[in-house]
Amino acid sequence: MRAYNFSAGPSTLPFDVLEEAQREFLDFSGTGMSVTEISHRNKAFEAVVNESESLLRELMNIPEDYAVIFVQGGASTQFAAVPLNLMHRGKADYLVTGNFAKKAFQEGKIYGDAACVASSEDKTYTYIPDLANVAFRKDTDYVHICSNNTIFGTRYIEFPQTEAPLVADMSSEILSREIDVSKFGVIYAGAQKNLAPAGVTIVIAKRSLIQEPLAVCPTMLKWKVQDENKSLYNTPPCFSIYLANLVLRKLKGMGGIQAINEINEYKAGLLYDFIDNSPFYTNKVEKKYRSIMNVPFVTPSAELDDAFVKSAAKEGLVSLKGHRLVGGMRASIYNAMPVEGVKALIAFMKKFETENK
Ligand SMILES: *Cc1c(COP(=O)(O)O)cnc(C)c1O
Repeated sequence: MRAYNFSAGPSTLPFDVLEEAQREFLDFSGTGMSVTEISHRNKAFEAVVNESESLLRELMNIPEDYAVIFVQGGASTQFAAVPLNLMHRGKADYLVTGNFAKKAFQEGKIYGDAACVASSEDKTYTYIPDLANVAFRKDTDYVHICSNNTIFGTRYIEFPQTEAPLVADMSSEILSREIDVSKFGVIYAGAQKNLAPAGVTIVIAKRSLIQEPLAVCPTMLKWKVQDENKSLYNTPPCFSIYLANLVLRKLKGMGGIQAINEINEYKAGLLYDFIDNSPFYTNKVEKKYRSIMNVPFVTPSAELDDAFVKSAAKEGLVSLKGHRLVGGMRASIYNAMPVEGVKALIAFMKKFETENK
């Protein structure tokens, strides 16, 4: 039996996509070879990269003057790539709304005057700071945010209006809701949460901003170079890009991001409603900022939390343990988590509550 996998990342992928990959694993596109064996310069693979790019452009409505590239090193490498491509005046503002946002900020400090202009650390990142009260500095090269906070289960409802280009880490929510890309200078996302296996990271960047990376920027981290080489400057993570391509086709077939967002809102709504109506389970996030991708919750005690995670796993509901910084449970319900998976989780939560209250 296939498990319902609530892992925060790498995470569940659409079952029919996995089956399709399995079907054509030994003979990709009539080449007589697996996609993991062919050259990245092979026409059949170039077609995969090109189609992935154009599907992303179409699904996210990405303006033409933006580069769309597939790179390696995970979102964590982009924490360095952001200053290395953009920090011309040596100054950037960061909003620290979680663990990854903090890591990005700390990486920024290596390269220049990075400042934390707003933080929600005072309440263990259970909210997004009031954007109207953020004192952005003058002459900053960019403002960095993390739009969905994977560990703490918060997300921005609206985005800061900034003079400097807005840079967003969207690793745990890319393609889950409609985003106006033109409001951002750069968007990046490790694909292993909502799109593909680990190994590929997507960068969407306004071309006019990325023409002069800092002199010390490694060639591999120059977005301009990756853009000019259509993500084929060196050997890319071929299999991850291939699987991303299959997932993107599926998302298009489902009716695009608006349709997917409706399903995501529905799934998250079921889970939050259940938690809110239960005296047994609690979600500590300020309601307005609740993520529809990552839902942390606790029972009345740490012992019960442990018991919950263990007995849920026995019933095929796996990877529900919360991040070590938060404890409790976390259900990551990305695009590929079916509604039935969320319903099965809720049914289990009901049963566990009855047995343990
Ligand atoms: C998972 C995650 C990261 C780290 O991604 P890696 O690919 O492991 O470097 C960064 N930011 C966010 C928001 C994440 O969810």
